[in-house]
Amino acid sequence: MAHPTVSETLFEKTTLHKACAYCGAKLEVLVARAAEGNEPFDYDCLECGKQYETEAAMQPEVRLVAPRNDGKTDRYQETMF
Ligand SMILES: [Zn+2]
Repeated sequence: MAHPTVSETLFEKTTLHKACAYCGAKLEVLVARAAEGNEPFDYDCLECGKQYETEAAMQPEVRLVAPRNDGKTDRYQETMF
């Protein structure tokens, strides 16, 4: 009996195009999703730091496509210090 010795985990790679709701930056989010066992992962807007969440098998990779367009330089603040 031959048993397969190599077990491959296949991920479906998806690219999400997202415009940040806070600063307007355009983001490209590369997400690898497994057939099952995905978990919620956080990723941040590269311009203002606003946090988003998506289901994925591993930490999503975020790329900046277009810079923010709100004319500001502040950071999004989820919580007060
Ligand atoms: Zn942003």
